[in-house]
Amino acid sequence: MENIYNPYENVLKVMDEAVELGGLSTDMYEMIRHPQRELKVYLPIRMDDGSVKVFEGYRVQHSNIRGPFKGGIRFHQNTDLNEVKALATWMSLKCAVVNIPYGGAKGGITVDPSKLSKTELMRLTRRYTFAIESIIGPDKDIPAPDVNTNAQTMAWVLDTYSMLNGKPCPGVCTGKPLELGGSKGRPSATGRGVVISTKLILAEHGEKLEGTKIVIQGFGNVGANTARIAFHRGAVIVGLSDVSGAIRCKDGLDADEISKFVEEGHLLSEYESEGVEHISNDELLLTDCDVLIPAALENQITDKNAKDLKCRYIVEAANGPTTAEADSILKDRGIVLIPDIFANSGGVVVSYFEWVQNIQILTWSREQINKMLEDILTKAFADIKAVVAKQGCTWRMGAYIVALSRLITANEVKGLFP
Ligand code: GLU
Repeated sequence: MENIYNPYENVLKVMDEAVELGGLSTDMYEMIRHPQRELKVYLPIRMDDGSVKVFEGYRVQHSNIRGPFKGGIRFHQNTDLNEVKALATWMSLKCAVVNIPYGGAKGGITVDPSKLSKTELMRLTRRYTFAIESIIGPDKDIPAPDVNTNAQTMAWVLDTYSMLNGKPCPGVCTGKPLELGGSKGRPSATGRGVVISTKLILAEHGEKLEGTKIVIQGFGNVGANTARIAFHRGAVIVGLSDVSGAIRCKDGLDADEISKFVEEGHLLSEYESEGVEHISNDELLLTDCDVLIPAALENQITDKNAKDLKCRYIVEAANGPTTAEADSILKDRGIVLIPDIFANSGGVVVSYFEWVQNIQILTWSREQINKMLEDILTKAFADIKAVVAKQGCTWRMGAYIVALSRLITANEVKGLFP
């Protein structure tokens, strides 16, 4: 029987390896191997045709040792408890590696949102918020957008939570619309962080973003913003994909034009331009390029394709796109990989700025936010680099050692209750 990929087992494997390599205390690490709480909810929704359907949802709170639980809400047909547990754990590691005062959590509903109308999605989001209301809150657990959710979803979360609490509670979630206390720079923050991470690792090897050939898998919020920002900074986008398929052009794709085309409601499979060829998602991953940026889902770079990749760098914009088995193949091949918990942390970093602005009832400028984001990522990159240099390890191991040692130390200082 074929092994079914379990993202949570994958995280445990990588964390175990980092704890051993970094010589970290295994006593408190045992806590980090388990989430603090898993909540499963059943969500009955009146569909537009009058029928009632029940959806399954989750909120997993992995750790709040370093601050309130923090993490997005995902709507996807394949979402299950193991995925949400893995995503919650990555959030704890992500917030620790960039040293912002949050723990980690994640939520999800098993649903294909493209099959629901806007009003059905609104009822589902509100019912889900109601179901998890008692365990979230501005100083408890702060949701945000993730795959297939956006500022509109957060507006419904915010309104439902505020109604239940009898007052406006803007700090209950991040990634909100600007009109409801959202932050400038939040929609593009994850993509901006991915581009900053790419720039930092290229600079480490004496290379520049200008002229670098990039392939991006996925054209949701993260993939599209990464493409646009990298394109504006002179990178050559040689391949892109979305759910409908992939496109490739060796002279470079116009990321602005393609973003506009997709915003108008089109799929990449419908995009035509001179020199553009239509290929499969598998072919996209094997395209000759300098930097491959997986910006879709987990389990994309595996032991099946890792040996055939034709890139020199991988920058993980998605959460968990590479399996532990693929990691060791990439290491042997000398492909440098910048891990998700650092590379895509720009989103949660600007979520943190949004939350701080909400608490202080202030608004900051886009310039200030982008500058602070770059400063935090540059500092975190230097922290990881110090471990990589000391241990002679991969950047994934370096990032995990930094994050886990912060989580373990916080647990040790606090001690065990009771
Ligand atoms: N969903 C994003 C992530 O995986 C953002 C989380 C947040 O802003 O809380 O990092």
